[in-house]
Amino acid sequence: MSLAQGRPYLAIPGPSVVPDRVLAAMHRPAPNIYEGELIEMTAGIARDLCGVARTGGDVAMYVANGHGAWEAALANTLAPGDKVLVLATGRFGHGWAEMAEAMGFEVEILDFGKRAPADPERLRAALRADAGGRIGAVLATHVDTATSLRNDVAALRQVLDETGHGALLMADCIASLACDRFEMDAWGADVMVAGSQKGLMVPPGMAFVFFNARASAARARLPRVSRYWDWAPRAAPEQFYQYFGGTAPTHHLYGLREALDMIAEEGLEHVLARHATLARAIWAACARWGEGGPLELNIADPAHRSHAVTALRIGAPHGERLRAWMAGEAGVTLGIGLGMAEPGTPEAGGFFRIGHMGHLNAHMVLGLLASLEAGMRALEIPFAPGGAEAAAAVVAEAAAPPARSAAG
Ligand SMILES: *Cc1c(COP(=O)(O)O)cnc(C)c1O
Repeated sequence: MSLAQGRPYLAIPGPSVVPDRVLAAMHRPAPNIYEGELIEMTAGIARDLCGVARTGGDVAMYVANGHGAWEAALANTLAPGDKVLVLATGRFGHGWAEMAEAMGFEVEILDFGKRAPADPERLRAALRADAGGRIGAVLATHVDTATSLRNDVAALRQVLDETGHGALLMADCIASLACDRFEMDAWGADVMVAGSQKGLMVPPGMAFVFFNARASAARARLPRVSRYWDWAPRAAPEQFYQYFGGTAPTHHLYGLREALDMIAEEGLEHVLARHATLARAIWAACARWGEGGPLELNIADPAHRSHAVTALRIGAPHGERLRAWMAGEAGVTLGIGLGMAEPGTPEAGGFFRIGHMGHLNAHMVLGLLASLEAGMRALEIPFAPGGAEAAAAVVAEAAAPPARSAAG
C-alpha cells in the first residue's frame, strides 16, 4: 500500500525545497522592467547576497545555472592558454575542470578521490613546481555535492600565501552557500560561485559570481572578456539592464528577495546552526543503521562532511531499490549516487544522497529518516535499528527547552 499521498518532499541536493513564501512572492503579474519596484529592489538583493557570502567585494548576477557561474568565473580572470589547477574531491570538481578545458585553458587536476579532502601539502608541491607562475587560478569545490565532501578553503589560502604564489583562489559554493559556513573575505577566496536553487531556496535560473579586488584586477588585465559573461557592468551597472546583460529574471528576483528576507529574519548564524544540527541528526541515524548492515556514510570524518548534502553507500541494488521505495511508498525523493560508479552499471545502484539544504526543519528530517528506516525494513535490507531514535536524540538535545509559563 502506497503512503505517498500528501505533500511531496524533494530531498535531492538541488534543486531544493522552495518555500511557500518564495512561491507566493513569485506569483504575480509581469512587472515593469523599466521603472518601479523591481529596479529599486535589485541593488538591495546584490548587497544582501554579499552579506550571505560574507564579503565586502562585488557580485555579478546571471540568468544561468551553476555551469554558467563556472564559465563566468573563468571567462573574467583567465586568458586562453592560461593554466588552472583543479583540486577535485568528487564529480563537481571534475565538472569545473572540464569547463576550463573546453574554454581552452590548460588544466592540471589534483585528484583526491571520492572520500578525502584536498590535501594542502599536495597543493603546496604543485605550486612550488610551477616555477614559471603559469597557474592563474586554483579551483576548489567548497562542498562537492556528489561526495558530500567539504574542503577547508582557509587552509588552501594559507598555502597560496605561504608559497607566495599569485594564483587566484576560486571556490565553488553552489551547494554550500547558506548551508555550510563560508567566509569569503576571512578565508581569502578571490572568487566564489553560487546558484539560486540550493541553499538560497529559489528555483534554478540565477547564478552568482562574487569577486574581490584581486580578481577584479585580473579581469582588468585581460585584453577582452566575452560580452555576456563580463562581470564588470553587472557588478556596477549604469543602466538597470546591465545587471543581467538584457532582460532581468523578473520573477526570480521577487523570489530571491523573499528568500533573502527569510534568511535575514532567521539570522544567517541560526540558518547555519540549523543545518549543522539537522546534518548531525542524519549522520547519527546513518551511523547507527550501519552498525548492523551495509549502509555507510561516504565521508568518515565529520569535520569534512557537508551540512547541505549527505552521500551514502549501501551496495547495489539496495540504493536503487530504497530510492524507488521512498518515492513510491513514502513521498520522499532521494538523490541518486553521482560519479560514484559508472552510470548504467549495476554498481551505480549502490549509492544514494540526501539533500538537506535550504528550507528544511526537524520534522522534515525526522520524517525522512523514519521513512528510510521503514524502507530498509520493508525491503529486508539489514540495518541496526534505532537510527531514527538516534536522530531524535540529536534534535532533542539541540532544541531550546520549553518556555515556562508565568504561573509556573
Ligand atoms: C549543483 C552544483 C553545480 C552545478 O550547478 P547547475 O545549476 O546544475 O549547473 C556545480 N557545483 C556544485 C558544487 C553543485 O552543487
